[in-house]
Amino acid sequence: MSGYKYQYVCPRCGTYLELKMRVTLKQRHCPQCREPITPQEIDRQLQKRREAASKLMGDLGQAIGKAGVIFGIVLAVAVGGLLVMVVFFCLCLGLASNQLPQTSPTHQR
Ligand SMILES: [Zn+2]
Repeated sequence: MSGYKYQYVCPRCGTYLELKMRVTLKQRHCPQCREPITPQEIDRQLQKRREAASKLMGDLGQAIGKAGVIFGIVLAVAVGGLLVMVVFFCLCLGLASNQLPQTSPTHQR
């Protein structure tokens, strides 16, 4: 994870910072208001960000699920319609063949 930076927003003044290290050897402070930057706060913000990301993924999953249901309904209607059409076609064909003049009751082979 090279180049990864910890995003940090100072809880006091809202200054956005990018930290290269989660754990700092020296106590770091916000350059704006000198509020100490703690690993706990970094973790808290990281957790918050992860929760937001997972919530987003959850929403996305729900949207995909809904789309899947809609797609399923559309597919069912399409297949159902096709089936009805095939049945209707067969019925028409059956009626047409029934209406054909019957030359003989039994087929001669
Ligand atoms: Zn600050």
